[in-house]
Amino acid sequence: MAYAPTLAWTPLSGPEEAQIVAAHAARMQRYVDFLSIPSVSAVPEHAADCRKAAEWLAAELRRIGAKRVEVSETGGHPIVVGERIEDPKLPTIVIYGHYDVQPGDPLDLWKTSPFEPIVRDGRMLGRGSADDKGQIVIHLAALEALLSTRGKLPVNVKYLFEGEEESSSVNLERWMAANPERCSGDAVIISDTGFFEGNLPALTVGLRGITYMQVDVRNSDVDLHSGGYGGSVINPANALAAMIASLHDENRHITVPGFYDDVVELSPDDRAAFAALPFSDANYLAGIDAKATQGEAGYSTVERRGGRPTLDVNGIWGGFTGDGSKTIIPAHAHAKISCRLVMAQDPAKIALQVEAALKAAAPRGLDVEVRNLGNGYPFLTPLGDPYLKAAAGALKETFGADPLYLREGGSIPIAALFQRELSLPVVLLGFTPPDDNAHAPNESMDLGNFEGGIRAVIRALDAVAALR
Ligand SMILES: [Zn+2]
Repeated sequence: MAYAPTLAWTPLSGPEEAQIVAAHAARMQRYVDFLSIPSVSAVPEHAADCRKAAEWLAAELRRIGAKRVEVSETGGHPIVVGERIEDPKLPTIVIYGHYDVQPGDPLDLWKTSPFEPIVRDGRMLGRGSADDKGQIVIHLAALEALLSTRGKLPVNVKYLFEGEEESSSVNLERWMAANPERCSGDAVIISDTGFFEGNLPALTVGLRGITYMQVDVRNSDVDLHSGGYGGSVINPANALAAMIASLHDENRHITVPGFYDDVVELSPDDRAAFAALPFSDANYLAGIDAKATQGEAGYSTVERRGGRPTLDVNGIWGGFTGDGSKTIIPAHAHAKISCRLVMAQDPAKIALQVEAALKAAAPRGLDVEVRNLGNGYPFLTPLGDPYLKAAAGALKETFGADPLYLREGGSIPIAALFQRELSLPVVLLGFTPPDDNAHAPNESMDLGNFEGGIRAVIRALDAVAALR
């Protein structure tokens, strides 16, 4: 098989390196075997394939030497667990990945068949090569190298590989509540993220939460003539526009009382991490074909995007919106509003605060209804976290550069779930290249990221052991 990874890594100095090199051909074959199972969780016709992938994974864990390996039922696609408890006195790391994948279509845009993986130009090409089967294979290879050379791991490890990540992890929270011992430990490593533009090593440390609401305001049962009634009754559209405008001040600071109370402010280290990102406003605007940036005074664009909360109108409507003119005072007006939230804002609490602020800003007598349509919690691993530092050191030793610390504007629900439900530090140690085409045609994994990932996982586990 062609083998020309584009990203360089530093080999390990111990006997594990020779084992990893010797196991290369077998590892690549297993990688191909795993990717060949079309475990698409969202498509009911692939349920048997999801189970087949779970059984394949369980068999691999057993073969390598994991204990208490189980394909655990969830009501949906099963969760595969296994562990190595070497010594109760050692730290225990929960390692998360997912064996389910996105559908392969649109098939005509693939250069190859999504479930017939091949190596081409230093990359493994195929659905799941990066997201997330390739990252699971990295962990399996690290486990195999450590057990076959040392006979044990430097720390205790519990593996938790789910099969519904691409279907919103619908059964994970309930399963975790029913199997607390399977996911208890000292820290969680989630390997489902990747490197920054330019294939620079990176650790995602923050993800924003969200609260989403709809606002409905009403004054009359029917639209009124604007000649006969304009200027003498509340115009719900005017009122809603003013209410929304009142939620920001001239510095784009959100005026909702209590909104910032729980915000963890950016530390000097946090700001240095943002400043270290190769980011320019001009490139950012060019990339989205937009005219100008705007945001909260006192913060850079990249800080506003990942490190600060927001309040945005997603849609607004009411009254006459057809062609031409119609002279009315609308009976009612509406808006969809979302807030992106940062640690440690509580989405349900923020929704109530925004509702109260909208009602307080409404003209007396206007009927205002605010409905909360959905919430998600923010996620943050502090830069000083020792497990994060262990992972950062492993990346630096392996790839030759300090990792960038990323805070993404969007969310990975499992990260917040692990942090909230287990109260554990969560490290997003992922290895995919930024151009991996995850969820898209021609998904691929750079084999330099893949091979380096194996070395980095071994170094990270050794570094965690050194914490005690
Ligand atoms: Zn994923």
